[in-house]
Amino acid sequence: MRYISTRGRAPELGFEDVLLSGLARDGGLYVPAVWPRFNAAQLEAMKALDYNGLALEVIRPFVGGAIDDADLKAIIDKAYATFETPEITPLIELEDGLFVMELFHGPTLAFKDVAMQLLGGLFDHVLKARGERVTIVGATSGDTGSAAIAACQGKEAVDIYMLHPKGRVSEVQRRQMTTVIADNVYNLAVDGTFDDCQDLVKAMFNDTPFRDRHHLSAVNSINWARVMAQIVYYFHAALHLGAPEKAVSFSVPTGNFGNVFAGYGAKQMGLPIKRLLVASNANDILARFFDGGEMRMDGVVPTISPSMDIQVSSNFERLLFDMLGRDGNRVTETLKTFRDTGSFRIDKKLLEKVRETFDGARYDDNQTSEVIRNVYDTTGMLLDPHSAIGVAAATSPENRDHDGTPMVVLATAHPAKFPDAVEAASGVRPALPDRLADLYDRPEKAQDIANDLGAIEALIDETQSQNVPAR
Ligand SMILES: *Cc1c(COP(=O)(O)O)cnc(C)c1O
Repeated sequence: MRYISTRGRAPELGFEDVLLSGLARDGGLYVPAVWPRFNAAQLEAMKALDYNGLALEVIRPFVGGAIDDADLKAIIDKAYATFETPEITPLIELEDGLFVMELFHGPTLAFKDVAMQLLGGLFDHVLKARGERVTIVGATSGDTGSAAIAACQGKEAVDIYMLHPKGRVSEVQRRQMTTVIADNVYNLAVDGTFDDCQDLVKAMFNDTPFRDRHHLSAVNSINWARVMAQIVYYFHAALHLGAPEKAVSFSVPTGNFGNVFAGYGAKQMGLPIKRLLVASNANDILARFFDGGEMRMDGVVPTISPSMDIQVSSNFERLLFDMLGRDGNRVTETLKTFRDTGSFRIDKKLLEKVRETFDGARYDDNQTSEVIRNVYDTTGMLLDPHSAIGVAAATSPENRDHDGTPMVVLATAHPAKFPDAVEAASGVRPALPDRLADLYDRPEKAQDIANDLGAIEALIDETQSQNVPAR
């Protein structure tokens, strides 16, 4: 399998290099040169597989022989052994024809674990085979950082430095990062904002000697392997609900568009997906795009579903590439217009075509709280605010299918990850799962650091110098 850049000017890469590199050199995102496709008989045969067996089938064509099957299966098994439920991503029927797929049974209680756990194992395997090590640096406002740390902890070929804004992440989120006590994990509490943390990470990547000295790498949401890992659970749900004979629709709480793009990928691979609902909070740039065909930047407003508080969705570029006939020049031009003017528009015909699969919806905090309360009152199920937005989109009258197509809402976080918002809406404080019940009593390890590039680079130089023999 070869991978090409959405901007058309970076070298084609194989799986291993796409895994280890983030952005393409032309600023684009890597996508498979062709989508692998399964026919109905192959899909039928997948029905008999458990989650890990299915993951192997779905992922194998993307890996394209770069890792042999036995090793790949071992990596998959190890990744999902960290999940609490044997089904990995269990499906629960909320009402007739409406299902919730719980993606939050991994170590840090959000769907990002599904991809990140696999990514950690893939990184370690490929790096060891090459005799290399990397230093992962990242900035987090919460979920991504904890999932990345949980995925890298104890991996031999990887060290991870995660920057978070001191005092500005929730207590659960902070503790999920700082209670991981491992030699290769460094939590840095930066005296600044999330934007400061992001700027520091960018500055480290732009410091070429530093970047080369430490083999800097990232595990951010544009990494192709994260999208790949997320495609699997769309197959898992649809095959349970009647595919390939019957189509299935999905409602996806969306921020950076990685999760819902994985659903689009599954559809390109032959899975009968009827519709993909792109569910947003008050930061509704995507909902406005799917309504009228114009992508227009706006400020970010904080909401009770913070993991979806985005201004621009980075993974949208992958869909844009397909929409524009896989023409990298058109993507480059369109995004230049977007950067220069704050907006771009697609024509009506193209919008109609995209809307055959996608539709957008937006819900503010009041509506989100109302859904949490209603679902709790009628079913006893506690939803986190992100998942509640998915349920809102799935149950709104204009989005409900009347032809019996099942609708699956992706539940992206455990309610206990956002206890204050859930309690305010439902009156019930969600409890952490047993294995995390003592989270608030565990020792924490983090270092305070100034909002200063020199100080952070010095800390990395200093701590990495102790690792020299391993290089
Ligand atoms: C990251 C995240 C999202 C958004 O997913 P994208 O792939 O960025 O669209 C939604 N909900 C939760 C809980 C998340 O952590």
